[in-house]
This record gives sequence, structure tokens and C-alpha cells, in this order.
Amino acid sequence: TPSRKPLMAGNWKMNNNHLEAIALVQKLAFALKEADYDAVDVAVLPPFTAIRSVQTLIDADRLAIAYGAQDVSQHASGAYTGEISAAMLAKLGCSYVTVGHSERREYHNETDAVVNAKARAALGAEITPIVCVGEGLDVRKAGEQVGHVLAQLDGALEKITAEQVRGLVIAYEPVWAIGTGEVATPADAQEVCAAIRTRIAELYDGGVADQVRILYGGSVKGGNVAGIMAQSDVDGALVGGASLDPADFVRICRYRD
Ligand code: PEP
Repeated sequence: TPSRKPLMAGNWKMNNNHLEAIALVQKLAFALKEADYDAVDVAVLPPFTAIRSVQTLIDADRLAIAYGAQDVSQHASGAYTGEISAAMLAKLGCSYVTVGHSERREYHNETDAVVNAKARAALGAEITPIVCVGEGLDVRKAGEQVGHVLAQLDGALEKITAEQVRGLVIAYEPVWAIGTGEVATPADAQEVCAAIRTRIAELYDGGVADQVRILYGGSVKGGNVAGIMAQSDVDGALVGGASLDPADFVRICRYRD
């Protein structure tokens, strides 16, 4: 049976300045220290302006917390005012970057092609992209969630090799469940996550598909994470709101306790 180490990633969105970020990481580290959290990879995704401070703290105290960014430019460098390159994030020690978050797709018109270009930019800098996919409420009501998500996945994986896809993380985040308090049922999460894994096996091969971590995201809290994590194709969670509360995020990371 495949052994995929669970990943719990906290997407802070546009919250926490660099001082608040330090305080939050310190609280997380303190609460996780006593736990056997070796069994789970823990990552935080602060705003760009806090990454350097988070890096300094994590390096100085040798904390077993990974970190990354919430977005990355598809371009390498040059006249792209306001953008941040994958090389810049790599230089800051970022392990992860979310690409194609539904808020980026909705408010910044990111298409599957842009998401693909950003994922490839991240891979080129040896940063693991967390590729976000997920359907809106209209698609869910029409029962077309699987087809919708697989089309997003196909677009995001264009020109990504089997060797690269192995290290990729996919996050299934139904848009109707993000920030709404309305979590998908474990069965709903499993249905789409299993379909994603099957598609990766079709596009590449079964061995690769067994290695790819697939996260669920959408109103995950300490109180509902265990049921979601019990699903065989769910390998972790992408957590928004609850990742700002150190006690709740630690509860999520320690879902096995
Ligand atoms: C997210 O933004 O990725 C997310 C899942 O948010 P929330 O946990 O707040 O629903």
C-alpha cells in the first residue's frame, strides 16, 4: 500500500504582518513540540511580506515547520511590476507555493493555462506547487464536479513530466466550502480526490499516482478533520481560516490524537 505522509498546510491569505506572523509561528511551534508530529508535514503559507521573518525564526530555532507562498509569477524576471518570481521564493527557503487558488482564479482571472505556467515556474525553482482545483456551487448542484475538476487538472498538468508530478501536491477545494463553514462530507471529498488520483494514473502511471499527495480544503477545522483524513485518497488539508488560530491548527495537525 502507498505510504503518503500527510501534509497540513495553513493558507493565511491576506492576514498577519511580519510581527504577527512571528508570534503565530512561535505559538504553533510551542504547541507542536510536545506532539509526535513527525508523522505529519506541517507548512504555513504567510503573505509575501512575512516570509523572510518566518524563515529567520524557523532557521534560528530549527523548527520542523515548512513554509511557502500563496502565489508566484509565471515569469522568471523582468518588467512585471508587483510580481514575485519562483527564484525569489526559493532563495527565501520556500518549500511550497499554492497556485490556482480559487480566490486567484476569481479575483485575478487566472485560467488553467496561467495555473499551469505558475506550477511549471515553481517546479523549475524546486518549489512544490500546491495546485488548487475545485468546482463552484452551480457545478456541484448539477452533479458535474468530477468532470469540472478533472478538466482543471488536465489544464494544470500540461507539459509537466512524470518525474515532476511525483513531487506535486493537488488540493481539491470546492469553492462553495471555502470560508463558508460548509465543509464537504468525507464521501464528497473522497469522490473527487479518488477521481484526481485515477486521472493522474491515466495521464502518467499508477506508481506516480500513488505518490502524489492530494489535499482537501474548505472549512477544515479541528472538529471535522478526522473524518476527512479517514478517506483513503485524502492525504492532508489546505486550511484557511482555522490556520490563523494556533490552537485549532494544532488540533488539525494532531488529528490522529
Ligand atoms: C483556503 O482558502 O484554501 C481554505 C480552505 O479556506 P477555509 O479553510 O477558510 O475554508
